[in-house]
Amino acid sequence: MANRTEREIGGYEAEFVSTLPNEYECPICQLAYRDPVQLEECGHRLCYSCLQELRRRQGECCVCPLDRRPVSATKMFFDKAAKRAILSQTVKCCNWKRKCDWSGELSSLEDHLKNCNFEEIQCTNAGCDEMLTRRSLQYHLSAKCKLRIVSCSFCTETYCYKDNKVHMKRCKRLPLECFNKCGKKDIAREEMSVHLNTCPMATHPCSYVDVGCDYKGKRDNLEEHYKSSVQKHLELACCKIRENESRTVCIDGKFIWKINNYRKQMDESLASDEETAIFSPVFYTSQYGYKLKLKAYLDGRDRGRGTHLSLYIIIMKGDYDALLDWPYNMKVTFYLLDQSERRQHRSHTLSPNLSLPNIKVVFNRPIGKENLGIGNPCFVPHELLDSGGFVQDDTIFIKVALSSSTNLD
Ligand SMILES: [Zn+2]
Ligand SMILES: [Zn+2]
Ligand SMILES: [Zn+2]
Ligand SMILES: [Zn+2]
Ligand SMILES: [Zn+2]
Ligand SMILES: [Zn+2]
Ligand SMILES: [Zn+2]
Repeated sequence: MANRTEREIGGYEAEFVSTLPNEYECPICQLAYRDPVQLEECGHRLCYSCLQELRRRQGECCVCPLDRRPVSATKMFFDKAAKRAILSQTVKCCNWKRKCDWSGELSSLEDHLKNCNFEEIQCTNAGCDEMLTRRSLQYHLSAKCKLRIVSCSFCTETYCYKDNKVHMKRCKRLPLECFNKCGKKDIAREEMSVHLNTCPMATHPCSYVDVGCDYKGKRDNLEEHYKSSVQKHLELACCKIRENESRTVCIDGKFIWKINNYRKQMDESLASDEETAIFSPVFYTSQYGYKLKLKAYLDGRDRGRGTHLSLYIIIMKGDYDALLDWPYNMKVTFYLLDQSERRQHRSHTLSPNLSLPNIKVVFNRPIGKENLGIGNPCFVPHELLDSGGFVQDDTIFIKVALSSSTNLD
């Protein structure tokens, strides 16, 4: 902002204490002369800057505004006496309307304005363009300026006032209300997690979640749950142990199931009124592959009941299902291995009929613990099983081969 006393064109706009004599008034700007120049031809005076402006506008044929006489560039001089007379006039401060009661010679007005408490200045914080009087600057800087540095009333950090929202979003000590609405307020953000651990309204997962208990409850209910679910938790843990121990991974897509005590198991299934199934250990098709198991009915099922060994494969919910392709799309071949030197294995390759209504329930990604099984109720006739080298030392071997070339397309 240009200083008031140093306007580019024209005289002093000051508030003179006693009326300024006419002879000190520039005929062009009608203000008190600033750097008065006297024209030799007619003796009239003008502000130097007003004369310059006149020449700029009128060019070569420049004339005195009072008597139209030509103004010659060489015939003029600075009127030092007039200048001195004007500068010694007593003026009020330009800010007298704002109640500045300073008065003094015009020559010292400029110096006064540099310190005048009522002078309007821009905020001294770079980036803040607020205009205010000098005397309110301190208050503005400490209490109003958007760029002032404030210290957080919750933590010890300081920050720029305009960043208040940003700070509050991450202030560690900002008081918050409990997320569970337990009624506790004023919980410092960094203490929230500690509170949530003891909050009476918080729900916690059962600590047996890893073995498959999906119970969640408030602290009190959880105590009850632990007391009433001892048996359930033990069973889940046992299951998990068994599963971990039996976690088998196919090598080259081949899995072999050794069934011991064949005769005893067969007798049991013959003695039962119902179709009795036995299950293979759970296995994965590869380290991060599909989870499967086999299911056999030694005395047969459905069409094979009483005459055949029936064999099925079941897709189970596995740990890596999210990464695998669905529906399951591998060729499955069952073998009953001949342990004699003839090695005349019995085999059957599944050729699922894709038009069957429940075929999706078999091959899609499992939603529950496992899918429906698929297989062959007439895999091996009992006569064949008892004749060859299939049962030796009361043991049979069932093999399943999985290959990614598919017959499902
Ligand atoms: Zn003149
Ligand atoms: Zn003037
Ligand atoms: Zn003043
Ligand atoms: Zn400011
Ligand atoms: Zn803070
Ligand atoms: Zn709470
Ligand atoms: Zn539980």
